Amino acid sequence: MADGPRSLVLLGPPGAGKGTQAALLAGSADLEHVSTGDLLRAAIASRSDLGKSIQATVDAGRLVADEVVAQLVKERVALGRGLLLDGFPRTLKQADMLDALMLEAGLSLPGVLELEVSSSDVVKRLEARRTCAACGPRPGGETERCGQCGGALTKRADDAEAVVLERLRVYQEKTAPLSQRYAGQGRLFRVPGSGTVEAVAGRVLEAARKAHEQGMERGG
Ligand code: AMP
Repeated sequence: MADGPRSLVLLGPPGAGKGTQAALLAGSADLEHVSTGDLLRAAIASRSDLGKSIQATVDAGRLVADEVVAQLVKERVALGRGLLLDGFPRTLKQADMLDALMLEAGLSLPGVLELEVSSSDVVKRLEARRTCAACGPRPGGETERCGQCGGALTKRADDAEAVVLERLRVYQEKTAPLSQRYAGQGRLFRVPGSGTVEAVAGRVLEAARKAHEQGMERGG
């Protein structure tokens, strides 16, 4: 097993706060933050061939092909640092691919932190979610201007209500089963995701510590 902090997966429905919490945790845990959603949006914005082929899928709230997303993650695994995976894996097949990639790279299997938020809270949060070009995702409550820099806010196309409902349906069908799989393997840590960003961040940090200790005990 490689030295250093254990890689982590942040699991949870869309709108659970994975991106916000990952950004906070990545610094304190010295992990490389990898958001497959951000990587896919960057590919779409660049109008690359990959971007053009995936835009309709993302806008409809469906999942991009396992092989395409795994390739994006593989490029990051190659860096050899512990990863903080935000939005990957989302299917059982992706979970298998991730374990294979980590073992191949000599990295320990990730611990998994599951952010638990109810479906009704998720719908409310995504309805309120806006992004600032300069400051990134904003927590809600601001509709037009960023409270931090005054810049214009935009709403993600896939945060429209009908798409959110589809994303939740897909989550229940394809991603929720991962929780049971990881619990069965003894590497799942559940984190209540309601409350302020700071309160959740404290719980996430504590769970990350436990996952790290467990990784050290197992030696991998
Ligand atoms: P996110 O920013 O994590 O909510 O992801 C936004 C969208 O990108 C998702 O609704 C999917 O269309 C796509 N996506 C992100 N991660 C994955 C993944 N691991 N597998 C398949 N599609 C993904």
